[in-house]
Amino acid sequence: MKTPFRKILIANRGEIAVRVIRACRELGITSVAVFSEADREALHVLMADEAYLLGPPPAAESYLAIEKIIRTAKASGAEAVHPGYGFLAENAGFAEACLQAGLVFIGPPPQAIRTMGDKTAARRAALAMKVPTVPGTSEPVGSDAEAARVAREIGYPVMLKAAMGGGGKGMRLVRAEGELAGALRMARSEAGSAFGDSAVYLEKYLEEPRHIEVQVLADSHGTTIHLGERECSIQRRHQKLVEECPSPLVDDAMRKRMGEAACRLVASVGYVNAGTVEFLVDRQKIFYFLEMNTRLQVEHPVTELVTGRDLVKEQIRIAAGEKLGYGQSDVKWTGWAIECRIYAEDPYRNFMPSPGAVIGLRTPAGPWVRDDSGIYEGVTVPIYYDSLISKLIVWGPDRAGAIARMARALAEYKVVGVRTTIPVHQHIIVHPDFVAGRLSTHFLDAVMGVERPEAEGRHRTVALIAAALAGYARAGKTTLPLASSRPSAWKFSARSGWSRPR
Ligand code: ADP
Repeated sequence: MKTPFRKILIANRGEIAVRVIRACRELGITSVAVFSEADREALHVLMADEAYLLGPPPAAESYLAIEKIIRTAKASGAEAVHPGYGFLAENAGFAEACLQAGLVFIGPPPQAIRTMGDKTAARRAALAMKVPTVPGTSEPVGSDAEAARVAREIGYPVMLKAAMGGGGKGMRLVRAEGELAGALRMARSEAGSAFGDSAVYLEKYLEEPRHIEVQVLADSHGTTIHLGERECSIQRRHQKLVEECPSPLVDDAMRKRMGEAACRLVASVGYVNAGTVEFLVDRQKIFYFLEMNTRLQVEHPVTELVTGRDLVKEQIRIAAGEKLGYGQSDVKWTGWAIECRIYAEDPYRNFMPSPGAVIGLRTPAGPWVRDDSGIYEGVTVPIYYDSLISKLIVWGPDRAGAIARMARALAEYKVVGVRTTIPVHQHIIVHPDFVAGRLSTHFLDAVMGVERPEAEGRHRTVALIAAALAGYARAGKTTLPLASSRPSAWKFSARSGWSRPR
């Protein structure tokens, strides 16, 4: 088999770097990792064929340091660079710098990144292709008076959004005209400091929409297809937490319409490689273009499991100039996949990051369970970067089967040393609205108010340990009894997801 490249540098860290290394290995490509001083022991460093230190922990001096990365790629003899997601993945300047250094950038052409990276330019491109957009402005707003006039036209509530925004940041909800001037000031200053560009635009605020996105693939020979949609409505702070493929809302006809709109749009901007066109969908099932991500998405595995296509390998093949080799009618969707993002965060403290040493880890396994992880037992989750530590993805023949499998897999998942989002996923996955497919971007608010299973469980465990220690101290024992007439914890653990018998 001819390999598309001999050597690829992965300009990223964590689970996505591991994901790309795996694809490289299967393709017979040598993988090159880069790392910061905080990541010397990171999984992607241990797994790659070669690994090079970039610099100190802050991303600006390591994973965002374009010159250092390009120099490392050249020195290592890599032919291509995979940017993963986040960091430099949507930085047109980085894509350009790769090309200028004679490296293949595994992603779209810089111009397509530039157009779609500016959300107002992306909206203009969508309008030009008659792809419906969320009502709003397609140019940054000028004076306060102009903003007030437009907001009145589209009707409150409205969202102020940073033109160059991303990652759920730089958005402000404005419910009435009285709040507009203040919100504009804040939004502009936030956008300026977070994205280096204070341009903001206005969008109609859709009440309780669903977030549904379409995966596209385009080769450099003029073939553009879509791989269907992903439902990503379960979010915290406008960032996704649970995703599934397909969406419980979307039928074949709607998939076709959304897919065609997405392909039309990306083809019009000369897009090549994998990308995602995001839509908001209202209660009437009307979809509106939201934005485009010109890279691999975190949630790509759900599409992989349902379509059987390896998106990272497709990215690499496309970047090497290969033809896709199949068309839209060859894409088939089989069964249902769900992904739960496992963050090192405390869901019961407003999803506060919980970095630290992972002193215990048991990952789920078994039929149709995939754990895309960036950690291992003993590693330290650094404070410097995004707190995603792994993604748990399951496949089932239908949605109910996938839900049951996810509940089973989540119950097997144990992470000790850092707090994680696992307990909240356990709530989400059995929630009657989730089971019924009644989703919206406000779903999590309803779930988070209710119970705190992890805290309760932890208190019970601490109480049990304390009682046991006190018992041993009272009995004057210094060692644990060797045998017990009680049934083994292993027996019980298999029954209720490894929790101890009550
Ligand atoms: P980012 O690029 O920062 O991720 P997006 O434009 O993709 O921002 O929006 C992220 C999320 O914010 C959406 O999935 C949705 O939950 C919410 N959102 C964005 N725009 C609107 C809107 N006009 N009305 C309601 N919710 C919105």
